[in-house]
Amino acid sequence: MPTDEIRETTETTLPGIAASPGIAHGQVFLHLQNDLELPAHDIEPARRGEEAARFERALLATRQQVQKTKAEVEKNLGADEARIFDAHLLVLEDHALIGETLRELETTGHNIERCFHRVAQRYIAAFENIEDEYLRERAGDIRDVAQRLLQNLLGQAAQSLGDLAKGRVVVAGDITPSEAAGLDRSEALAIVTDSGSKTSHAVIVARSMRVPAVVGTRDLTRRVRNGDWVLVDGYEGKVILHPAEQTLFRYGQIRLAKKNIELRLLEASRRPAVTRDGAAVALRANIEQAGEAKLVREFHGDGVGLFRTEFLFLSSPRVPTEEEQFQAYRAAAEALAPAPVVIRTLDLGGDKPMAGGAHLFAREANPFLGHRAIRFCLDQPAIFKDQLRAILRASAHGNIRLMYPMISGREELARANAVLDECRAELKAKGVPFNADLAVGTMIEIPSAALTADLLAQDCDFFSIGTNDLIQYLLAIDRVNDRIAHLYEPTHPAVLRTLKHIVTQAHRRKIKVSVCGEMAGDPVYAPLLLGLGVDELSMTPPLLPAVKFAVRAMKMTDAKKLAKDALKQESAKAAQALCEKFHRTRVKVD
Ligand code: PEP
Ligand code: MG
Repeated sequence: MPTDEIRETTETTLPGIAASPGIAHGQVFLHLQNDLELPAHDIEPARRGEEAARFERALLATRQQVQKTKAEVEKNLGADEARIFDAHLLVLEDHALIGETLRELETTGHNIERCFHRVAQRYIAAFENIEDEYLRERAGDIRDVAQRLLQNLLGQAAQSLGDLAKGRVVVAGDITPSEAAGLDRSEALAIVTDSGSKTSHAVIVARSMRVPAVVGTRDLTRRVRNGDWVLVDGYEGKVILHPAEQTLFRYGQIRLAKKNIELRLLEASRRPAVTRDGAAVALRANIEQAGEAKLVREFHGDGVGLFRTEFLFLSSPRVPTEEEQFQAYRAAAEALAPAPVVIRTLDLGGDKPMAGGAHLFAREANPFLGHRAIRFCLDQPAIFKDQLRAILRASAHGNIRLMYPMISGREELARANAVLDECRAELKAKGVPFNADLAVGTMIEIPSAALTADLLAQDCDFFSIGTNDLIQYLLAIDRVNDRIAHLYEPTHPAVLRTLKHIVTQAHRRKIKVSVCGEMAGDPVYAPLLLGLGVDELSMTPPLLPAVKFAVRAMKMTDAKKLAKDALKQESAKAAQALCEKFHRTRVKVD
C-alpha cells in the first residue's frame, strides 16, 4: 500500500464513466496487478533467510502449477501443444535468474517481490532486444511466469479472479478482457476500474454479462481498501464510497424503478422490430461465446451480427484447435438457426492480448496500430486456416456468415479470400461438407476501408461497420484511454459523413450494411444510424429491448430527417443535441 494514500470514511461520490448499466452495493475486492502495486518494504538482515525461503516455496508452487497445466494440455491436445510449458519450466529453474534475485535481496534488503520483479524486468528487456526472433519471443515466457510467481508470492494464484471476487465489487486499475470474461454475474457484483472507456473490451464483456460497471475513476484504487462498502451506479457513472443510509434508500428506489422499466422493455421486445411507418429492421446480437446464444433468444435478437471469436482464444491457455472451434461455431449456429450467425475471424491484439499466446505476440508501443486482427492472421496462416476451416465446416449446420476484422483495403481482403479459397479446396478434396454459398463480409473500421468502400463492396457480400474502432481511428482517440474519453464523439461531423459514405457505396453495389459497434446498442444513436440508411444493428444482448423499443416508437421518415439534419451540423455537440431531442420526444419510456 502506498503511504500517501487518501482515506475517507464519510460518504464521498467519485465521478467516472457509465460503462454498464445497473446498481450494486457491496464490499470492495481490490484487484491490484501492475508493477507499482507490488508491496514495498525492507527486510532486516536477520529475516532475509526467511524471505529467501518464501521465494523458494513460491518457485516450487509455481513449478507444480505449470507441470499440472502442462500435463492437462498434453493429455487433451498432445505433446506439441504442451511444449510451451517447457519454456516456462526452464525459466523457473534458471539458476542465474534465481541467484540474481537472492543476491538482490542480500544487497538491497528489499522484499523479495521487488527483488524478483526487478531481476525479471532486466531479463525481459535483455531478451526483447535480441535479434533472433525465437529468443526474442522468450521474453513473453519470462513475463508470463514472472506474473504467476509474483501472484504466488502475494498469495493470489490459487484462486481465479472470479473466485476472489464472489459477491464483491471488483475495483482495479484495469482488467483484461479475459479476466472480465472469467467473472460472471454470480461472482462479481460490479466492476470499477481507474482507467478504461465505454468501448474497451473488458467493458463490452461486463455489459454482456449484465454486471454494472463504472470506468475511468482515476484514483479509486488508492482511495479504497478491501472490504470497504461502496455503491456503484452504472447508469450515471458514479461510485459512492461509504454510502449513507439515505443514499442507500434513494438508490433502492431508483433500482426498483429501473428494474420496472427493464421488465416493460423486455415484455415489449417480444414484438417485431418494425417502425411506426412499417419499416422492418434487423436487430442482432454481439456475442463472445457460443453459450451466449441463449441470451440472444432471451432478449429476442434476430440472430448474431457479431461473434467475437477471439474470446475463445482469450479464455484458453493455448490456441484452440480447429475441432474445438468447429464445435463452438456449430453450437451457436444450431442454437439460433434459421437466424444468421455472423462469425468474425480472430481479432487478437490491441486491448486483447492472449495470455496463453505470449509467444505469438511481441510487445508493441502502439498495439491498436500494430499486429492486430487480420494482420496477425495473415502472418499466421496455420492459425488462420484452422479457424477458416472450422467456420466453413460449421456452415453446414446453420445460417453462418463469415466476416473479417480490420480490413484496410482491397488487396488485404483479396489475400484473406485467397486463404479462404485454399481452405474450401482442402475440405472439398476430403469430401467434408460446407456451405458453398457462404456469405463473406468485411468489417469497415479503418478509415482507409471506409474511403475505399466502393472497391471493397465489389469483393464481398456485406459490410459491418465497427464504430468503436472507426471512431478511434478517425478521431485519433485511443478507445481505452479515460483521459480523452470525452473527445470520443460518435456524432462528430467526420464520423457522420464517413458513415453516410459507406452506406451510399454499399447500397450502390447492392450490399447490406450493419453497424456492430457500441453505437448501435444506444437508443439515442440507433434512429440516426437507421436514418443514415444502415440496414441492420447488432449489439450486446441486454441492450436489444431498449433499441427495439426505440425502433418501434419512431417513424423511418422521421429518422431520415434526423440524419439529414445531423449531417448538416458543424459540430458534434449540435448533432448530439438533435439525437437527444429525437430520443426525448419520440422514444423515451417512463
Ligand atoms: C468495433 O470496432 O466497433 C467492433 C465491433 O469491433 P471490436 O469492438 O471487437 O473491436
Ligand atoms: Mg473493432
